[in-house]
Amino acid sequence: MKRISILGATGSVGQSTADVILAQPREYDVQVVTAHRNVQGLAETAQRLKAKKAVIADAGKFQELKDALSGTSIDCAAGEEALLEAASQPADWIMAAIVGMAGLRPVLNAIRQGTVVAIANKEPLVAAGPLILQEAAKAGAKIIPVDSEHNAIFQVFNPESRTGVERLILTASGGPFLRAGLSEMQGATPEQALRHPAWSMGAKISIDSATMMNKALEVIEAHYLFDIDPADIDVLIHPQCIVHSMVEYTDGSILAQMGASDMRTPIASALGWPQRIASPGRKLDLKVLKEFTFEDVDSSRFPSISMAYDCLSAGQGACVALNAANEVAVEAFLNREIPLTEISRIVSVILEKNEPGSLRTPEDIICYDERVRDLTRALIQQTGQWSRVA
Ligand code: NAD
Ligand code: MG
Repeated sequence: MKRISILGATGSVGQSTADVILAQPREYDVQVVTAHRNVQGLAETAQRLKAKKAVIADAGKFQELKDALSGTSIDCAAGEEALLEAASQPADWIMAAIVGMAGLRPVLNAIRQGTVVAIANKEPLVAAGPLILQEAAKAGAKIIPVDSEHNAIFQVFNPESRTGVERLILTASGGPFLRAGLSEMQGATPEQALRHPAWSMGAKISIDSATMMNKALEVIEAHYLFDIDPADIDVLIHPQCIVHSMVEYTDGSILAQMGASDMRTPIASALGWPQRIASPGRKLDLKVLKEFTFEDVDSSRFPSISMAYDCLSAGQGACVALNAANEVAVEAFLNREIPLTEISRIVSVILEKNEPGSLRTPEDIICYDERVRDLTRALIQQTGQWSRVA
């Protein structure tokens, strides 16, 4: 039996992971499941998966979790330290599905076990890609990307043919505002922005998809994961969300991975790796496809993607700043403090102030991330005479 842990088990990716596991429950022995504050969701998931332990990151929720799991043999713990210990609890396969930089330390602990770590949590890769890869190499851990684009590339990228890679092509749905005018985007409410046309996901990544900052983060993620020059990473809008990304080789071959817009497929591919296992996810029926199109991104409405390339040429500090400023700005938008279109403007103002210093250790990176968050909050407050959105 494969010993499994899920960090961020109550989220969208965490729940899809639980679905994939429960399709063949006898194959897996679930060790730890974790969540931030959602006690009921965590207790329910721990019971469904027959996990040995449930960990809630919010220390104040310990008693509530204990009560919710009373009468079961599931062990409980709470707080930051308990979350870090959960990531270090021996497992053969760990799903990193926390959202945001909060996942950095847990991801590093998971990697230090030297087993397989499936990473959906893209923000730590964006801010600390070199460190994560170094730690993985040191520990002998295998990182399997779960982000659908990177999982697609992982499936069709042969590292032995690396010299023959012409470019990576990341596909993007374009999000809910693909055909919207700038004024519609300016007035968009969180409810409208959260309504993704193809994928059902957590709030933060849904807003990132609406601004296409998600694709900016993914360009950086792809650069680090596959060690490909940013100039050889392209983005194409593919509204049908059938091709999840592609690798073009020098001989003219383009290898693509296709599937329904269902995270259970990349999760199953990561869980089964290097074998293939069954997924309970939706399957693609090629016969019903009416359109299959690719187009360039309109950078005037989606300025964030070009920021990714600027950040990669500026260095890692800029990637930390891009990610931190974006996390703060997305939260401000969700709290109706700023309009949607302000997110990329705020990020670009913050990037001009980028002064990272040394970023060798996780502490350096976390410290700079926090400094950028403070700066971003101050900027939002300073310029905060925005009329509240809807
Ligand atoms: P989500 O908001 O649905 O779930 C996030 C999970 O992380 C929850 O279990 C939550 O309890 C936990 N969490 C949040 N803040 C935490 C904190 N401070 N400390 C500890 N735990 C915390 O998010 P999601 O949509 O499942 O996305 C998770 C990650 O996967 C993100 O980085 C996202 O970009 C990436 N991703 C998601 C999808 C998708 O389809 N949802 C696709 C590709 C990549
Ligand atoms: Mg993605």
